[in-house]
Amino acid sequence: MKKILFVDNSPVMLELMTKLVQKKTEHQVFTANDGLEALDFLKNNIPDIIFVDLIMPRIDGKQLCRLIRNMPNLKKVKIAILSGVAAEENLDPYEIGADYLIAKGPFNIMGKFVLDYIDSSYSENSDELKQNVQGLDYVRPREIIQELLSEKDSLRTLMNNISEGILELTADFRIVYTSPSAPAMLGIRESEALGLFFTDLFSGKDFKRVKQISKSIKYDHQEIKFKTPLKIKDKLLEVKLLPVKKQELRIFVIIMDVTQKVKQEALLRKSQKMEAIGTLAAGVAHDFNNLLMGIQGYTSLILLNLETQDPYYKMLKSIEQQVESGSKLTGQLLGYARKGKYEVNTLNLNQLIKDTSDTIRRTRKQISVKVKLEKELFQIRADKSQIEQVLLNIFINAADAMTEGGTLSVKTKNTDHQHIQNTLYEVNAGNYILIIISDNGIGMDKITLEHIFDPFFTTKEMGHGTGLGLASAYGIIKGHKGYIEVESKKGKGTTVFVYLPALSSGRKNIEEKKVVENRENIMTGTESVLLVDDEEIVRDVGQKMLMALGYKVFLAESGMQAIEIYNTQKNVIDLIILDMVMPEMGGGQVFDILKSISPEVVVLLSSGYSLNGEASAIIKRGCKGFIQKPFNLKGLSDKLKQLIHENL
Ligand code: ADP
Ligand code: MG
Repeated sequence: MKKILFVDNSPVMLELMTKLVQKKTEHQVFTANDGLEALDFLKNNIPDIIFVDLIMPRIDGKQLCRLIRNMPNLKKVKIAILSGVAAEENLDPYEIGADYLIAKGPFNIMGKFVLDYIDSSYSENSDELKQNVQGLDYVRPREIIQELLSEKDSLRTLMNNISEGILELTADFRIVYTSPSAPAMLGIRESEALGLFFTDLFSGKDFKRVKQISKSIKYDHQEIKFKTPLKIKDKLLEVKLLPVKKQELRIFVIIMDVTQKVKQEALLRKSQKMEAIGTLAAGVAHDFNNLLMGIQGYTSLILLNLETQDPYYKMLKSIEQQVESGSKLTGQLLGYARKGKYEVNTLNLNQLIKDTSDTIRRTRKQISVKVKLEKELFQIRADKSQIEQVLLNIFINAADAMTEGGTLSVKTKNTDHQHIQNTLYEVNAGNYILIIISDNGIGMDKITLEHIFDPFFTTKEMGHGTGLGLASAYGIIKGHKGYIEVESKKGKGTTVFVYLPALSSGRKNIEEKKVVENRENIMTGTESVLLVDDEEIVRDVGQKMLMALGYKVFLAESGMQAIEIYNTQKNVIDLIILDMVMPEMGGGQVFDILKSISPEVVVLLSSGYSLNGEASAIIKRGCKGFIQKPFNLKGLSDKLKQLIHENL
């Protein structure tokens, strides 16, 4: 006795077949109204033969056959197709996965083929596929059916080729169709998807969201779109539901994988935010540097005339120190704002790391510092003092995170751009060096981690943190066309990855030129200097400083005025100190005109911004030097002497 399953959406057909088989044979007959019902039946039953109608709602015949052929436990089951459109459609048993094909036609003839097949299906030569469609001689092709089939075909082709994934759901939200691209988006196989409740694809909040919609879905044609993407595993999906009511409610689901898009947008927003805050930070730093310039200058002028025993000497000295701290702060801000590299040289990074980590080793006795350096580290070109600043900022953070003791480990490695991911900005292709700095301190939670690069973001107590350490590190590294990334786990520790582009040629670290610092006393001069600055306080203090150094001074409060003065006094003026940022006519423009008046003009560019792209461009055009505001007497005298020595 065999178990026979008939799957057909026509109740009449099912009834006739059941009666026929039960009347003539002893076999057991089961029925299913469509593919979905059949699938449910097959979960707990293994029939010997399944007769499948091809055109059915809720999982059609072909899909059902494909599913059955993918179920290992149904390997021995025979499938016979009972097709109502055999005359119109060219059926390929191999493609469908069927063992036998019967055309639905006059009942007595069709019935005979069914009984024949039940009899012979397990005989020896039954495995030979019956290529011919049985009963085809008794049916005639109908034009309307041909048209409908071709229509269906185009629709299927369309569904198979659009980038959106498409599902069809029953009214109770079970999946009965998946387009080819849909299962991958859902992270499952087609065979797993069919019959599944759509809601069960989701978990947590999204499960509730989908469940809610599934309960309230209306029968009109309005499309329903989830306002924010739904999450499945690590994928973000934009999902639209389109209810269609014919005889019964069906719901089409249109799915778009927006994982990449959402990620890109978040990165873009973040980099735009950094950019905007950077501009703000640079503006603040610039204005502060001009203020500090005044305080710095006057203080050093007064100090010049005071004996060290003077009761005010100490106070003024500490004002000077405060100004220095202030200008370090603005320096960090400028670092964040990425207003350029200052002095770029080939850098022995390993040596710099040894030196800075030694500083930490000496000053933070409670932590042990482990350094492991790549021997043949690629060469880089960088601003040494800025990179030193970055390293110190990161080391100090690590030390701050390990007040109870721990290990700070620093490594260097050679790598390339392919190892850099998730950058907020485009990373150029090529070799990179990687510095890995890890601590096993307190670590950070997700929210802290999201804000660490924001200027003034700190979790430290007043007086302990400025919130500028990582912000400036970020800006400096970005200014060097590098990339910085931080990983952290609360309670476990933190690792910072710093990538810097390597020089294309040469591996070995070369010895750096030793920069000879001038520690001699303040040097005076006798030359004539034209000081151009739009800020009155800078002109005033600058003039006094220059005069204190012995220089003769001309003043101009604008570019126009500077040009006028230079035009008449060019034989007298030896050197010009030119502010870069001024209203109406900026330093760059002024410089070009001065140069056209006298190609040999010696100009020292000065700015509250650090040496940025604009300043570099002016220097490339022949400007002789750059001085960062605020500067003190010593800084000014050194710079002037150097310029005079080199150019006059
Ligand atoms: P600051 O050190 O002045 O607070 P930073 O920009 O250097 O400013 O760091 C910002 C914040 O990032 C810190 O306040 C701290 O919460 C967190 N942070 C940075 N580095 C670490 C680290 N190694 N371990 C734990 N938290 C860190
Ligand atoms: Mg810090």
